[in-house]
Amino acid sequence: MIVAKFGGKSVANASNIKTICRITKQEIKKHPVIVVSAVSQVTNMLLALAVADSNDFNNIFRQIENAHFNLISDLWGKKTPENVKMYIASSLDSIKTIAGKIDKTKAEMDRLLMHGEMMSSYIVACALSLSGIKSEQVSAMDLIVTDEEFGSAEFIPQLTVKKTKKTIEPLLKKGIVPVITGFIGATEKGEPTTIGRGGSDYSASIIGYSLGAKEIQIWTDVDGLFTADPRIVQTAKPLSEVSFKEASELAAFGAKVLHSRTMRPAIKANIPVKILNTLNPKSPGTKIKVDTSFSSRIAAITSKKKIVLINLYSTEMLLSKGFLARIFAVFEKNNISIDLVSVSEVSVSVTLDNDENLNNALAVLSKFTSVAKISDFGIVSLVGEGIVKIPHVMKKIFTILDKQKIFVKMISLGATDINISLVIESSKVEKTVRSLHDGLIKL
Ligand code: ASP
Ligand code: MG
Repeated sequence: MIVAKFGGKSVANASNIKTICRITKQEIKKHPVIVVSAVSQVTNMLLALAVADSNDFNNIFRQIENAHFNLISDLWGKKTPENVKMYIASSLDSIKTIAGKIDKTKAEMDRLLMHGEMMSSYIVACALSLSGIKSEQVSAMDLIVTDEEFGSAEFIPQLTVKKTKKTIEPLLKKGIVPVITGFIGATEKGEPTTIGRGGSDYSASIIGYSLGAKEIQIWTDVDGLFTADPRIVQTAKPLSEVSFKEASELAAFGAKVLHSRTMRPAIKANIPVKILNTLNPKSPGTKIKVDTSFSSRIAAITSKKKIVLINLYSTEMLLSKGFLARIFAVFEKNNISIDLVSVSEVSVSVTLDNDENLNNALAVLSKFTSVAKISDFGIVSLVGEGIVKIPHVMKKIFTILDKQKIFVKMISLGATDINISLVIESSKVEKTVRSLHDGLIKL
C-alpha cells in the first residue's frame, strides 16, 4: 500500500479535488491511503477566530463557512448530498461554541483546530465515493496516539502502530480507500491533539511508518525539490532523486515543501517519500530515498537572506578548557538554536536564524568575552552527498565568487560531508546563489 497526502491547496477547490479522485483511481492497485490537510487557510482562520473580538468574530466565522459551502457547491451544486451539508453545519456549530469561549486552554484550541481536517476529509471521502471509489473518512484520533503536549504533540510509536493497523487494514481488505485527517491525533485518554503547524506531512509519514507503506507521496503545489529557489534562479530544475540527508538539509534551509520532522518515521522504516504536484500531476516529482548511490555531487543551492552573526572574542580562550561549553550553555539557557559555528584559537563565530531572546544571552556573554552582533549577512548553502570530496570543490567555489567580487565572511564545512555553507552579505545572497548555480550545477 501507499500513503498519499494532499495539502490545503489540493483540497481547496472542486477542480483540485477532482484531480485527487483521478490520482486515487490511477493508484488504486497500490491500495492508497489518503491523508488530507484542512482546506487552505482554514487553520489560520480558526486560530484568528479563537482570538477575535466580537466585531471580527462573525466576519471570520463567515469566511470559514464560505470556504466549505463554496467548495461543496462548486463540487456538486444542487446535488450536494444532505449528509455532507449536515456534517459541515454541525462542525461549524462546534467551532462556534468552542471559539466563542473566553480563555481557551491549549487542549481546547486543539479541539477547535481539528475541525479543519475533519471537514476536509469528510468532503474528500464523499467526493471519492461519488466518483465510484469506495471510500471512508477516518479520524486520526482513532489512529495516532500522542503525548499531552497540546499544540505540538509527539506520537507514541508502539500505540500508534497498533491502532493504525487495527483500523486501517480491515478497510483496505474490503477495498475501501481511507481518507485520514492530517495534523491531529489523540492522547491515550482520547483527547484531541495537534502535532504542530504544517503537520499533515508528518501525519502521512507516521501513517506510512505504522502500516509499512511502500511509498509516501506528498502532493503539494510545486514540482518537487529544486536545484535552487526558482524565484531566485530561473533555470532551477526539480531534482528527480535526493537522499534523505540531502532532503533534511534542504528542509532545514527553508525549502518549504517538506516539514523537517516529516522524514524521521519514513527513514526509520526505510520508506521512500515522493514529492508531487497536484497542479501538474504528470510531472515526475522528487523521490527521497534512503539508500542512494550518488557519487559526490552538488544537488542544490539554498539560502537564507538574513541571519544574525555573533562574533565572540576572548584571549581567555587561548589554551583554556571549557570555554566553548560556557558559551554554548548561555545560548542553550536562552533557548537559542545555533546554525553554523566557526572557531579559532581566540574567537568563536556563530550564526542564528533570528535575534529572539538574544539580548539576554549577549548580556551574559559580554561578562566574559567581547561580543559583536552583525545583522546584514545571510547564508548560502551548497548541499549534496559527498560534497566535500568533489575534486577541487573549494577552489571552484572561490574562483566563481572571486570573479563576482563576492566576499565570504565565514565558511562552514559540515563534518558529515553534505553541506558547505558560506556567510555572505545579505545584499549579495541572491547573486551568489545564481553564480554558483550557473557555475556548479549540471542540469
Ligand atoms: N492544517 C494544518 C496547518 O495549516 C496542517 C497542515 O496544513 O499540514 O498547519
Ligand atoms: Mg503543508
